[in-house]
Amino acid sequence: MVKNTSVQITLILFIMSILGLSAGCQQISPEATTDLSASTSTPSQTLKDGFTNARENMVKLQIQARGIQDAAVLEAMRKVPRHAFVPDKHLDQAYADHPLPIGFGQTISQPYIVALMTEALEVQPGDRVLEVGTGSGYQAAVLAEMQAEVYTVEIIPELADQAREQLKQVGYTDVEVKNGDGYYGWEENAPYEKIIVTAAPDHLPQPLIQQLKEGGRLVIPIGPIGAVQTLWLYEKIDGEIQTKNLGDVRFVPLTGEH
Ligand code: SAM
Repeated sequence: MVKNTSVQITLILFIMSILGLSAGCQQISPEATTDLSASTSTPSQTLKDGFTNARENMVKLQIQARGIQDAAVLEAMRKVPRHAFVPDKHLDQAYADHPLPIGFGQTISQPYIVALMTEALEVQPGDRVLEVGTGSGYQAAVLAEMQAEVYTVEIIPELADQAREQLKQVGYTDVEVKNGDGYYGWEENAPYEKIIVTAAPDHLPQPLIQQLKEGGRLVIPIGPIGAVQTLWLYEKIDGEIQTKNLGDVRFVPLTGEH
């Protein structure tokens, strides 16, 4: 069963690269294969971790080259040790131009997609941000590096525990991780200036719109399971919702009972 799942993921990643959904397939080798997952360093200390060049190349060749310009996003992605959020067996692929399996049939998103969604959020220091779909914790770390106040919800308990632990180990001690169904948001801390959803529902979850602050931005992929979805930006302006299509993407489905 586990074997089948990993074969399926490999096959999906291969098909995605053929379809151009992870445009380009640049492999960037790390300078070293040091596993920082057990490190207790702070985010700024992780800068000299042997993967600095790999991160710089990722930002330059995969992200800036595709048009991402937000300096704060680029700086955060230069700093966050992505390899610390990737399973050991995929360490040599940590900065490669595609998503990677993280167990339980889930993935850490392609670096470019993380950058695209984060730029669309227009994160400001101090923003209260809700993430639905914690996964590895990498996206939450990027938001925390941008000095956002991050709340993140993950439906798979093991992933929630793992991400909470990993975020702490790497030094992002203020990120709050909850195990639950993110379709319903995280009411206690609402409203949020920004909401990012990293798994795809087939419709816009109303609780998320309700928990978005006036003037807030919500970035979410919406579409059928197993097919190409559309990445949408929703903005709440004077109580009205404005939408913008950010293009085609492919995400794992938003699961749960709703
Ligand atoms: N943002 C993640 C990262 O940086 O690694 C990648 C997210 S992965 C593409 C999508 C995640 O959404 C998976 O971990 C999956 O278990 C989670 N998920 C799916 N449905 C969910 C739901 N209803 N509530 C919360 N998390 C959900």
